Amino acid sequence: MTNSTKGHIVVFTGAGISAESGIKTFRDSGGLWEEYDIYDVATPEAWRANPDLVTRFYNDRRKQIMGAKPNDGHAALAKLEKEFDVTIITQNIDDLHERAGSSKVLHLHGEIMKSRSTKNNNLVYDIEGWELTADSKCELGSRLRPHIVWFGESVPMMETALEVVRSADCFIIVGTSLEVYPAAGLTTQAPTGCAKYYVDPNAKPISGVHQLEVIPQKAGLALPELADRLIQLGI
Ligand code: NAD
Repeated sequence: MTNSTKGHIVVFTGAGISAESGIKTFRDSGGLWEEYDIYDVATPEAWRANPDLVTRFYNDRRKQIMGAKPNDGHAALAKLEKEFDVTIITQNIDDLHERAGSSKVLHLHGEIMKSRSTKNNNLVYDIEGWELTADSKCELGSRLRPHIVWFGESVPMMETALEVVRSADCFIIVGTSLEVYPAAGLTTQAPTGCAKYYVDPNAKPISGVHQLEVIPQKAGLALPELADRLIQLGI
């Protein structure tokens, strides 16, 4: 997946990396999904039953994300690009990695700042501002939906993500409970010989994953230290 002669660092991130930017995680207590039933807002059935509610839910998320700033964890990952070829695979729908300066970001579960045609999946548009409305239409005249992979939908970027992880020289997992599949399955796919790190206050060893250094700390603290270590010592 990479033509560079620099070492390839692959980073797999989840909601935890954006927690210190004030964006609620998924399953932590006080997390977003305690307030909403996912089946009411994040499934194809929810969209069919009540597109206005789903649109409003994501409008609120978008507004919040636009007001948030990348944190030290995002910044540390962007800094790694000075020395390494870095690919970020994120489960997050926010754009904080990009705003921190990371240039190769693969969004497994879609992007909140984009909308998509309900007639043709390939028609994807940037959303200007925070609001998608019932009148927002694609060029074919159909209503635009948030460009999000909902529960029960397939993950189109999964094959690409697998290839990227299999080409890693160093693999860093950050801020994810590893409970959402197929994304969580990526963790076992890095090459046997490559160094692996798992940064999360609740991180535990992952069965079947060897050479894994577990760093049970917040991303904003642990990632700047880890980035400095990798830049000084190499991967
Ligand atoms: P999750 O909520 O299941 O897990 C979050 C993890 O982050 C937990 O393991 C927690 O210990 C850890 N965490 C909390 N604070 C942290 C910090 N400061 N530093 C490092 N780790 C921290 O989230 P998930 O595993 O990403 O899976 C949930 C799904 O929800 C994903 O598919 C994602 O698309 C979606 N989601 C995205 C966002 C976002 O875009 N920011 C926010 C919420 C949920």
